[in-house]
Amino acid sequence: MSIYNLTKEELVDYFLEIGLKKYHAEEMFRWLYEKKIKSLDQITNIKKEALEKMKEKFSLGEIQIVAVEREKEVNKYLFSLKDKEHVEAVLMRHDYGNSICISSQVGCNMGCKFCESGRRKKVRNLEVGEMVEQVLQVEEDIKTRISHVVIMGIGEPFDNFDNLLKFIQIINDPKGLQIGSRHITVSTCGIVPKILEFSKFPYPVNLAISLHAPNDLLRSQLMPINKVYPLKELMKALKEYSKNSSRRLTFEYILLKDINDTKECAEELSKLIRGMNAYVNLIPYNQTEAIEFKRSEPFQIMKFYDILKKNKIQVTIRKEFGTTISAACGQLRSKKEDV
Ligand code: SAH
Repeated sequence: MSIYNLTKEELVDYFLEIGLKKYHAEEMFRWLYEKKIKSLDQITNIKKEALEKMKEKFSLGEIQIVAVEREKEVNKYLFSLKDKEHVEAVLMRHDYGNSICISSQVGCNMGCKFCESGRRKKVRNLEVGEMVEQVLQVEEDIKTRISHVVIMGIGEPFDNFDNLLKFIQIINDPKGLQIGSRHITVSTCGIVPKILEFSKFPYPVNLAISLHAPNDLLRSQLMPINKVYPLKELMKALKEYSKNSSRRLTFEYILLKDINDTKECAEELSKLIRGMNAYVNLIPYNQTEAIEFKRSEPFQIMKFYDILKKNKIQVTIRKEFGTTISAACGQLRSKKEDV
């Protein structure tokens, strides 16, 4: 088993079981996440017998970078997993630091019509360690600290909920990767019961909702999850979430030419989220070969933006990364596996 699967608390339990002390778990975390050891043999302050026991049980590192596409501000990584499946991660260099977008599943069952990842059904959830290692390995590749993590790569993080929570605990841990909660963002297509559960999770990370349409008719056409949790239920859950946390929500809204980028949609969207502690992130669509949707024209994007502004909705337009390298969700993996 990968040692990166374990939260500090789980490591404490294991250490007590094999006769070590609680503080050894903290030490161990420092070896793993500060010193970033490559082999358990590098550990100098844990007894030999205990180390031998650990070596029987744990491995260090189970995923491998098999391809990298590099641009000035963005790197895209393809990882091979121990069962030969593939996932990807994207590194973005911002003026405020390095941000990584990681995958949470192999494939995805949500079936959003515009999304490359959804073209192949979920094969399995990623283990906690497989998420942690995406961060560690990219850090090693760029030889610089990663300060921000977004869980917005392949997969639906709320469909891998328990592992997601552990992953957040590990990267946030003061003895782990020390990535502050406010520098961590989880993006979901809107699985209502999990949003409610997540509102009780005592780590104030950011939540982003992939909205993409302001009414049920259109949203159900684009995102099948909307048939299970329609907008009324979603918005109710988000209001509940906002009550429980002081965190500002992000609504992601991809602009698809002639589909959801009209003036009417902008007005309807403004009405839908008026009064919420939230902002809208407008996303220029990354076109892919296999999917027929087109990106909205720049003037249409600006028009949409202006209407939201006029309606006093907080709104930003996502800075574009990686349109020349295949940085839209799932494209590198698709190329590799030819799906
Ligand atoms: N399942 C989660 C997280 C993964 S998708 C979710 O739905 O939020 C991350 C974001 O990328 C979502 O907002 C998704 O709708 C968006 N996305 C998918 N394909 C895209 C594309 N081709 N161009 C731009 N954004 C895309």
